[in-house]
Amino acid sequence: MTAAATASPRRIVLLGSTGSIGTQAIDIVRRNPDRFEVVGLSAGSNVALVAEQAVALRVPVVAVAAGSTDDLAAALAAAADASGVTGYAPELLAGPGASTTLAAREADVVVNGITGAIGLEPTLAALRAGTTLALANKESLIIGGPLVKALAAPGQIVPVDSEHSAIAQSLRGGRAVEVRRLVVTASGGPFRGRSRAELADVTPEQALAHPNFAMGRVITTNSATLVNKGLEVIEAHLLFDIPFERIEVVVHPQQMIHSMVEFVDGSTIAQAGPPRMLVPIALGMSWPERVPDVDVPCDWTKAQSWEFEPLDDDAFPAVALARRVGEAGGTWPAVYNAANEVAVDAFHDGRIGFVDIVDTVARVVDAYAAEPASRVEELTLEDVLAADAWARATADRLVAAP
Ligand code: NDP
Repeated sequence: MTAAATASPRRIVLLGSTGSIGTQAIDIVRRNPDRFEVVGLSAGSNVALVAEQAVALRVPVVAVAAGSTDDLAAALAAAADASGVTGYAPELLAGPGASTTLAAREADVVVNGITGAIGLEPTLAALRAGTTLALANKESLIIGGPLVKALAAPGQIVPVDSEHSAIAQSLRGGRAVEVRRLVVTASGGPFRGRSRAELADVTPEQALAHPNFAMGRVITTNSATLVNKGLEVIEAHLLFDIPFERIEVVVHPQQMIHSMVEFVDGSTIAQAGPPRMLVPIALGMSWPERVPDVDVPCDWTKAQSWEFEPLDDDAFPAVALARRVGEAGGTWPAVYNAANEVAVDAFHDGRIGFVDIVDTVARVVDAYAAEPASRVEELTLEDVLAADAWARATADRLVAAP
C-alpha cells in the first residue's frame, strides 16, 4: 500500500466535468479511488454526461449552468436506471451561478476545467473558500489578474496547463532567486511554417486539427492562432511573478518538453513527457505528490528528434499582442481574451477568416486605449466584467462589419 493510500482520499470538486479536461480528470479519479473522491460535479449544458458521471461516482452535489434541476433530475434517473443504481439522490444546482456556488463548498481541491472568461467567478469562489485550486481555466487568472492573486494564498493555485505544470515542476530544481528565465514551449499549431498570406484560406476544420492534443474548440483554435501561447505568457507572469522580458517562447513541434526553467548558473531544467494532459491534471489534484502510472513515460529506446525554433511573430502576432496587454495589466488582458472569444466563434460560424481572429483582437485592443476604463487603478470584479462586456460588444461590431 502506498503512503497516499493510507491517507483519506482528497475531496475533489470538478467544474467543467464534461469537457476535455473534465473527462480526463474523471478517468484519473476512477483509476485512483483510494486517492480521490469527487464531492461535486458541474457542467455547462451536457446534462446527460454529467448525470452519467455523477451516478458512476455517486457524487453528492451535481450542477449544470444551462438547464433546470428538473432536467438534471430526469437525466440522473435515466443514468441510474441504465446502470442499475438505486437510492442515489444528490443535491442539485442549476443556473448560471451553479458552478460558483459549488466552488465555494467544502473540498480539498477545486479543479476548474470550465472554458472561457465564465470561469472567473468560480475561481474567485474557490480561493475565497480557502480551497486549493487546480487551475485549467487560465482565462480566469489572466482576466482577473490582481484580483485572483490578492485572494490566493501562496501555493493555493496549482497550474494544470501543461506548460505551467512543467514550470512548477522545474522550479523544484532551484531557489526563486536563482531563476533567470522561463521558457514556454509552443507546438506552433497546425499551421507552423506558414506565412501570413498562406494562412488566409484556412478553414475551421483545419484549425481544429491540432497536431498533438485533443482539446476543446476554443483552446484548439487558440493553439492554431497562437493566442493560447499569448495567454500562457500572461499566465506564467502572474503565476510565477517573473517579468515579461524574462519569459521566452520557443516553438517545439513534438511537444515532448512542456516548458523549461533556466537558472543563473546556465543550467536549464526541462520537464518532458508525452503530449497529453493526464500528468498535469493528476498533479493538479494531488500536488505536490505524484500519482503512480498516470501516463507512460518517454520511450528512450526509439530514435527520435526534438526540434526547437523561434516564433514567427509576423505570421503569428498573438504572442506579441499578449505581451502588450499583459504589460498594461488592469483590464487589458480581459479585453484581449473577450475579443478573442468572440472572434473564435465568428470564425467557426464562417463570418470571418482565420487571420481576422487576431486582427480583430488587435483592433479591439487598439480601440480600448480611448476608453477611460483602460486606465483603471484599483481593479475590481465589476471593472473586469465591464471590460469583458465592452470588448465583446466591440468585437461583435467589428466581425459584423469587417
Ligand atoms: P471543453 O470545451 O472541452 O470543455 C469545457 C467545459 O466547460 C465543459 O465541461 C462545459 O460543459 C463546461 N462549461 C461551459 N460553460 C460552463 C458554465 N457556464 N458552467 C459550468 N461549466 C461550463 O474545454 P477544455 O476542457 O479543452 O478546456 C477547459 C479549460 O482548460 C480551458 O480554459 C482551456 O484553456 C484549459 N486547458 C485545456 C487543455 C486541454 O487539453 N483540453 C490544456 C490546457 C488548458 P458542457 O460541455 O456540458 O457545456
